[in-house]
Amino acid sequence: MGMADDLSSRDATALWHPATHFGDLERLPPSTITRAKGVWLFDADGKRILDGIASWWTSIHGHCHPDIVAAIAEQAGRLDHVMFAGFTHPSAVELAERLLKLAPPGYGKVFYADCGSAAIEVALKLSFQSRRQTGEPKRTRFAALHGGYHGETLGALAVSGADDYRGIFAGLLTEPLYLPAPEFRWHEHAMLQTDAGADSEAADQAVALLREHADGLTALVVEPLIQCASKMRMHGVGYYQRIVREAQALGIHVIADEIAVAFGRTGRLFASSWADVTPDLMCLSKGLSGGVLPLSCVLVRQGFEEAFTGSPARSFLHSHTFTGNPIATAAGVASIKLLTEGGGLDALPERIEALARCRRRVAERCAAVVDHRQAGMIAALTVAPAPGQPGPPGGRISLALREAAMAAGVLLRPLHDTIYWMPPYCIDDAALDLLTEVTIEAIESVFPGPKA
Ligand SMILES: *Cc1c(COP(=O)(O)O)cnc(C)c1O
Repeated sequence: MGMADDLSSRDATALWHPATHFGDLERLPPSTITRAKGVWLFDADGKRILDGIASWWTSIHGHCHPDIVAAIAEQAGRLDHVMFAGFTHPSAVELAERLLKLAPPGYGKVFYADCGSAAIEVALKLSFQSRRQTGEPKRTRFAALHGGYHGETLGALAVSGADDYRGIFAGLLTEPLYLPAPEFRWHEHAMLQTDAGADSEAADQAVALLREHADGLTALVVEPLIQCASKMRMHGVGYYQRIVREAQALGIHVIADEIAVAFGRTGRLFASSWADVTPDLMCLSKGLSGGVLPLSCVLVRQGFEEAFTGSPARSFLHSHTFTGNPIATAAGVASIKLLTEGGGLDALPERIEALARCRRRVAERCAAVVDHRQAGMIAALTVAPAPGQPGPPGGRISLALREAAMAAGVLLRPLHDTIYWMPPYCIDDAALDLLTEVTIEAIESVFPGPKA
């Protein structure tokens, strides 16, 4: 038995994987990865797999970037961990200062947590508790967008609007006020134009709902520009700007969930910068540590902390054991340096164009592509069988595409009928070409048939 087979069977015995159906394990067992470099994962047999989705949208600089590896090693040898109540340390301070300097203007504090969902919990509780302490106890409810995804702990799940994740647990969750969002099926960068979506019917409806319910609302939770987990739905800069400004004018806090879209993913450091807004609370994770260690934080608008000063009973009631872990924040500092001082952000426009050319190539070659869209380094293609064609067995489009791509050495993980690319920013032309050709082959194998 080879090492891979052995690990595979031990894994099957001992482990329970997230977002994985037991019934699919035989058909598509977890690959055993022993090493990674740049855009490549290497399995136990030495076969390389192109990481087309940056390992769940985290690995922005590619895997094992030497600067981040060095920062982690250095930090781990000097100070591994210290509790963050009553203590501080250099990398937590430096990362916070850099974030505040680079973020849209108006933030004053950083609150660390350890995963995206935890950052959302922090933001929800900050908003809710502040109302109790500023004489607005009636503001208890959250507004959120249909189709939103904010994580899977109960508080974050409550404000999510995707039934796939939320439905089963609905009985445990508070009901937010759901707002509609326009859905763009644009093929170019139009969604990043400043007015995109501002005058849509959905924007009018969202604004009317906010006005109608304003007195009871504490915060609006929103993913800026792109609902990644909801099949990369894009709603436009103008829509985002309009609902943020409207909410803030009504005294409703805005919680921007930039967990998937910050750190250059849309072409700018923060997606909210496209809309020229400063949400009251901004949640960051995934790429925050360069995608290497679990780390998240909430940027807090200047002055927000005033609701928590005065008597000790007004302190913010929230803590996670690993808050501000030194190794994770050291990775974060190294990652931010790569983006800002290391030319990471400057290199993006050219890579975004290259990604767009590849996306168009797939759309031109494959009749099954019925829509495609892009925002920065996120490209998405929606596929459907031709009329009268059956599509894959059991309607398992994603599984069939994933299986075909993996067999050809590319990691894709379509969201049902939506194939998306979200690669590390360092992906070169040769790797992009492989990503494109394997995507085309996968589509053609799952949806056979000539170009219409
Ligand atoms: C991934 C994600 C989360 C949840 O982050 P976890 O680290 O998985 O808890 C929340 N919001 C958005 C937009 C995400 O993409």
